[in-house]
Amino acid sequence: MTKKNIAAVDVSGKRVFVRVDFNVPIESGAITDDRRIRAALPTIKSITDRGGKAVLASHLGRPEGNGFEADFSLAPTAKRLGELLGKPVVFPSNDCIDAASDAAVAAMKNGDVLLLENVRFHKAEKKGDPAFAAKLAHGADVYCNDAFGTCHRPEASMVAVAKSLGTKPKVAGFLVEKEIKYLAGVLALPAKPFVVVLGGAKVSDKMACIDNLLPKADHILIGGAMAYTFIKALGKGVGSSRVESDRIADAKKTLELAAKLKCQLHLPVDHVCNTEFSEHGDIEVFEEIKDGYMGLDIGPKTQTNFALLIGKAKTVVWNGPMGVFEMSPFAVGTKSIARAMVDATKKGATTIVGGGDSAAAVEQMRLAEGFSHVSTGGGASLEMLEGKKFESVDVLDNA
Ligand code: ADP
Ligand code: MG
Repeated sequence: MTKKNIAAVDVSGKRVFVRVDFNVPIESGAITDDRRIRAALPTIKSITDRGGKAVLASHLGRPEGNGFEADFSLAPTAKRLGELLGKPVVFPSNDCIDAASDAAVAAMKNGDVLLLENVRFHKAEKKGDPAFAAKLAHGADVYCNDAFGTCHRPEASMVAVAKSLGTKPKVAGFLVEKEIKYLAGVLALPAKPFVVVLGGAKVSDKMACIDNLLPKADHILIGGAMAYTFIKALGKGVGSSRVESDRIADAKKTLELAAKLKCQLHLPVDHVCNTEFSEHGDIEVFEEIKDGYMGLDIGPKTQTNFALLIGKAKTVVWNGPMGVFEMSPFAVGTKSIARAMVDATKKGATTIVGGGDSAAAVEQMRLAEGFSHVSTGGGASLEMLEGKKFESVDVLDNA
């Protein structure tokens, strides 16, 4: 199932349409985090270093789809990309398919980089419209998908543009290749013991992921708010912790299925609790949560239990923080998982973090380098953990 990579294509003198994910946070015109732009650099450089012409397309945010909106312009990302590459990036127009864009693409010289304006200024992008896609392709000779964060969305620039190229090469960029290698490759054949750590806000978001991983994992460790729906399903007290009442029956089924499949599902045995959802109030650790208290992080015993299991693992996949890590009194559990995984990596385990907030937590703690892989795609990585197939990847040539 390996896909052909950009390095395997002769790009010299060719127009390469590269779908990147430059959906970066921008506050009053300034980019506050350029990680997604930096993540695309290896692919862009590989094209330009070999004399190819890189025509980049991306979305940014959720504009109406009725034309240009200044708040969603990619102009700041063109500027930042130019700084990172150390050379100018052509940003031809405020419309990705107009005559000015066409002319600018036609005028490109070998080694040039051009960024088209936000593809979501056209409703046709979300609809996956082939006529729009044919224009957007601007006569490309090669299609390259390096937008992992958008791979779960079959939008025009992700699928229809690739299809519009017919038999011409359609390949993965280095970022997409790495994400697939880890998220799909490791899950297909995980070295055992395989430990999955799940947390985050909503059990409903992660049910499909649990169902897919139960038959594969040896241990599933559950923390975060989602643990309380499970604890409630076992008939135990959860105080005023966040519970999804309509998912208690599902949680019971999952517990039964885990027992049948011999996958050990571990719930927290103690909790850092508070009387209110804030850093103030009365913060205490309980094994059985008292009425009037809500669980906001896994407790010290749970941290130790989870770290021991991670320490014995050969593969660890983590999605979802263990507590409300945005507030420092409840960040300890998440930090302890991150540290345990970094230690496991040093001992030779393959360690993967998927999920927007979990990845952000790991970056915040400056521990990202210590993992085998920190996914750049929140929604896309969760869908891969759910075992979903992406049309945007299927459409690429096999290696
Ligand atoms: P990811 O983006 O990594 O998949 P989620 O979006 O599922 O993670 O969940 C992240 C959110 O879960 C964080 O904002 C965090 O504050 C929240 N969270 C974690 N534990 C709790 C808890 N015990 N109670 C309430 N919210 C929690
Ligand atoms: Mg999230």
